[in-house]
Amino acid sequence: MASSSSSYTNSPCAACKFLRRKCMPDCIFAPYFPPEEPQKFANVHKIFGASNVSKLLNEVLPHQREDAVNSLAYEAEARMKDPVYGCVGAISVLQRQVIRLQKELDATNADLIRYAASSCNNLEIPIASQSGRTRTNSNTGHGGGSLGQNPGLYFSSPWNRSDSYGGDRNERGGG
Ligand SMILES: [Zn+2]
Repeated sequence: MASSSSSYTNSPCAACKFLRRKCMPDCIFAPYFPPEEPQKFANVHKIFGASNVSKLLNEVLPHQREDAVNSLAYEAEARMKDPVYGCVGAISVLQRQVIRLQKELDATNADLIRYAASSCNNLEIPIASQSGRTRTNSNTGHGGGSLGQNPGLYFSSPWNRSDSYGGDRNERGGG
């Protein structure tokens, strides 16, 4: 704080320069509105007003002020671009995108389950009629893939149950 305050004595912060006032050492804007970013304060002042920003910063704990200013700057910039919706415009576009991609993902996962089931069975079952019943797919998958699945379960059990490691060894030796 002491080292940074010396740099503010020469050039006022972006807020004080914009408001044409003397930048005091205890200026609440100075740490968050450096003179190199004049547009940041200009946007925030236009949308929220300097006195409201000052009040808000005084209500927020010092370690949260930087995040608060960044949030205000982001919202101000968004509201300059879209005066009606601001950030909400971008958020709603992204929400719609998420819903659309989730539907695509669900459809692709359903396709994958169908393909996996058909390759396991090696039978020409009309898959389309089974699309509603995913449970039957898992059942047939377990029955058809017993050769591939049972050894995997057998070898993974000693790792999962380390306390019964000796018991598994005996079982393997006996069987
Ligand atoms: Zn200042």
